[in-house]
This record gives sequence, C-alpha cells and structure tokens, in this order.
Amino acid sequence: MVNSSEQSVGSKRRVTILGSTGSIGCNTVDLIERHRDSYDVEALTCHRNVDVLIGQARKLKPSFVAVGDESQVETVEDALAGTGIEVGAGREAVIEAAARPADWVMAAIVGAAGLLPTLTAVRRGAMVALANKECLVCAGPLMMAEVAEHGATLLPVDSEHNAIFQVIDHERYDLIDCITLTASGGPFRTFTHAQMTSVTPAQAVAHPNWSMGAKISVDSATMMNKGLELIEAQHLFPVGPERLKVLVHPQSVIHSMVSYVDGSVLAQLGTPDMRTPISFTLGWPRRIAAPSQRLDLATIGQLTFEMPDPERFPCLRLARDALQTGGSAPTLLNAANEVAVEAFLNGRIGFLDIAKVVEDVLNVGELKRLTTIDDVHDVDQDGRRLAKTACERMSRADRVA
Ligand code: NAD
Ligand code: MG
Repeated sequence: MVNSSEQSVGSKRRVTILGSTGSIGCNTVDLIERHRDSYDVEALTCHRNVDVLIGQARKLKPSFVAVGDESQVETVEDALAGTGIEVGAGREAVIEAAARPADWVMAAIVGAAGLLPTLTAVRRGAMVALANKECLVCAGPLMMAEVAEHGATLLPVDSEHNAIFQVIDHERYDLIDCITLTASGGPFRTFTHAQMTSVTPAQAVAHPNWSMGAKISVDSATMMNKGLELIEAQHLFPVGPERLKVLVHPQSVIHSMVSYVDGSVLAQLGTPDMRTPISFTLGWPRRIAAPSQRLDLATIGQLTFEMPDPERFPCLRLARDALQTGGSAPTLLNAANEVAVEAFLNGRIGFLDIAKVVEDVLNVGELKRLTTIDDVHDVDQDGRRLAKTACERMSRADRVA
C-alpha cells in the first residue's frame, strides 16, 4: 500500500481538499494555514456550504474551487470575481478538482458521494489522505486494485487506521496476532435499550470526545462507525476478519493497537483531535507540528476498556456479517445506513430503526460479485431505494402506533 511518491521530501507540496468545508476539511485547512510555506493549494470543494468555501478560497488562494450543488455556484462566482480563482459547479467539477495536478489529495467528502472523486485522485497515482471511509466500504476491493495499478499512496486519516498505519509492520502481516480497533462507545454507551428508543438527533450528534460531521456522529452513536471501520481495516490491512477486534475505550486516548506473535502490543496514543492524524498524512513520510493538546496521562489518571455490547449495538454485528459475506453486502450496508441516518436526522425514523433498515436491506438486497465501479453504483442505488421503502414503512408504523 505504501508506494513511492513523485514529490521529493522537502519541496513544497501541492494539495487539494475534497470536502474542504466539513469537519475534516476545516481541520486540514487549519493545518495548512499553520504551515503556509510548505503547501500550495490546487483545489477546494464543497457541496452547499459556500460561505465557508469562499472564506477558505480567499485565504488559501487555490487555482480552482468546485461547488457540488449547482444552485449555489453564482454566490461563489460573484464573491471570487477578479481573484483569478476558477469556479466550477456540479458533480463533474468536484471530479475535475480531484483530477487536477496536486501531489496530495484529502478525500474528506462524506458518504459514497466521495467514491468517484477519490478514485479520480487514485487514478492519477496521487498521495491520497483517506478520511472518506464509505468509499472503501462500498468499493474496497476495486479501490485497492486501482491503488496498486496506478501506484497511488493511500494514507489513512481515520484515527484508528492512522494509528495502525503508524505501528504495523507493513511487510510482515504473518507476524501479527490481531489488530484491535478502539471505540469510544459513543454518547449512548451506557444507555439501556429502552432509553435508546427515544433519543433525539441532537443527543446522537453530541459526541463525548470528538467533534465531527453529523453523519459520522450518528454512526458513532449506533456503533455502525466501528462496523464501517472493521471493513475499512480489512481493505487497508488485510489480516483477515477474524483477526480484527473491537474494544470499547471511552477516553479515546489509545487510537488502536497491533498485537504481534511475540506478545508485544504496539499502540498509538494521543488526545482526540483529528489534526494529529491529518498532520501525519500531510507531512508523510515526515512529521509536521500539529496544535493538538498534548497528552497528559497523569491528569487523565485512568484508561478503561470494555467489550462492545452486540445486543444494544446491532450495527456492529451487521457490519461484521457484511464483511464476512463480501461481494455487494458491504455496498448495500453502506447505502442503507446513509439513507437511514439521514431519515433519523430528519426526524422520520427513530434511532433504533437505523439498524432495522440496514438489516431489512441486507435481507432483501441482491448479493452478487462486484467487478466494476458501475456494479458498485447499481448496488448502491438499489440499496438506497430499498432503504427508502423501509424508512417509509417504519415512519408509517410509527404514526399508526
Ligand atoms: P462533514 O459532514 O463535516 O463534511 C462533509 C464534506 O463533504 C463537506 O465539505 C460537504 O460539503 C461535502 N459533501 C457532502 N455531500 C457531498 C456531495 N454529495 N458531493 C460533494 N461533496 C459533498 O463530514 P466529516 O465529519 O468531515 O467527515 C468526512 C469524512 O471523513 C466521512 O467519510 C467521515 O466518516 C470521515 N471521518 C471523519 C472524522 C471526523 O472527525 N469528522 C473522523 C474519521 C473519519
Ligand atoms: Mg475513526
């Protein structure tokens, strides 16, 4: 997975941020502003959040900005008139941003919408900092084959995978006993099943340790996030699903661990601030300074651990089953989850319905081998259609009750 990059160490790195207005995107912009002499910005993209995009473009002076939602583009064109910054609109413009010549591309679009832009950067053989875990979940084997074919370098941003990347022996997976992904347990870690029936979107997005976008925050609350991360881990570090473990660690200090055959366990620790793993990928193969709070273990005092509860967090089981089944199952899981999370955030279904929607879709969706990106797209669309039907059924049942 680690390939040589054309950019020589020490020279100025040209970077693009796909999804620059989101949580990961803004943290990336923050780091670039702190290391202004080391980076030039080629392109920035957003979906709708044009005010943030305009502010970032004025500060970072990219060559190109892309607005996914075409209805918002005039505001950006007006605001950036006379700056020399090119402005594009629509899905094609986001893909163009990824195609432009940057050494390093942050893939921080949320959901399967990030697949084609990320793949476009991979196909150029770029260094791709991968935050967008959904694209590996829905198209992992195809993505990894393209990474190898085009000599791209995939640098995991997800804190767990970034931790593993830092401590794993990339050459000798045979010397690894297991990989343990740590999980905070989310805001409902201690809730009973009965309490979880009535939790609100506002409660679900209030993560105890991390500040993140709405979708991943809900995924953390259902623990689907850890399920998606199991699938992500199997593609990035293919040690076999049975050697991938999950451990709840509420303080989010140990970001993941690799256990070796001699009994040694290597872990990466730090305060929960995504600027640490992002800076690791920005500087790679060197390290650059990040402003994250320093870890003070004496003040924290105690680190605790517990096993995840499969009864209260069924999404974890659903994701593990999808990983074992392979083929189109993870693609269906991801599509159903994206639709269900959106329905929950919009108040159309309850929190516990998210897992039910995903399970329904996995039960009825067609299982098949995926050989092309078009296959992934078709299964993704099928999964979304089935999930919308399931959400409507659940919201009707709720109104009747
Ligand atoms: P976010 O919702 O804060 O930001 C998402 C970004 O994607 C925004 O810039 C938005 O404009 C853009 N976007 C949304 N829909 C789009 C579409 N259809 N087309 C083009 N652009 C679109 O999300 P986030 O929390 O920054 O997460 C981004 C990705 O990183 C997700 O895949 C998430 O799982 C992963 N991740 C996030 C964190 C975190 O701490 N936030 C940690 C680990 C992994
Ligand atoms: Mg993570």
